Amino acid sequence: MAGKKVDLRNPIFHDEDAARAHLERVLWPQGPVCPRCGVTGDRITKLQGKSTRPGVYKCKDCRKPFSVTVGTVMERSHIPCRDRCWRVNLWLPARNPCRRINCTA
Ligand SMILES: [Zn+2]
Repeated sequence: MAGKKVDLRNPIFHDEDAARAHLERVLWPQGPVCPRCGVTGDRITKLQGKSTRPGVYKCKDCRKPFSVTVGTVMERSHIPCRDRCWRVNLWLPARNPCRRINCTA
């Protein structure tokens, strides 16, 4: 099985905001989903204050903040999103038999 070519110039590998947006598109194709209670749509608010980290949302039902990594193996990791994209696209297909894992859009 021939591997899909990876464009190393893709901003998801260099820009943290682009990488986070990419992970959100892959993990939340229908929009943000609260990892605790599962609500979507207008019950989710994106937090955008000066002291708020980028990519944080708040659920209006359970009133908890979350990001795209909450509830995943990446939740407590301090690895930047762009490095996660590198690892998933370049390292995993070469080393892991689960070659179908690919988070390119
Ligand atoms: Zn919730």
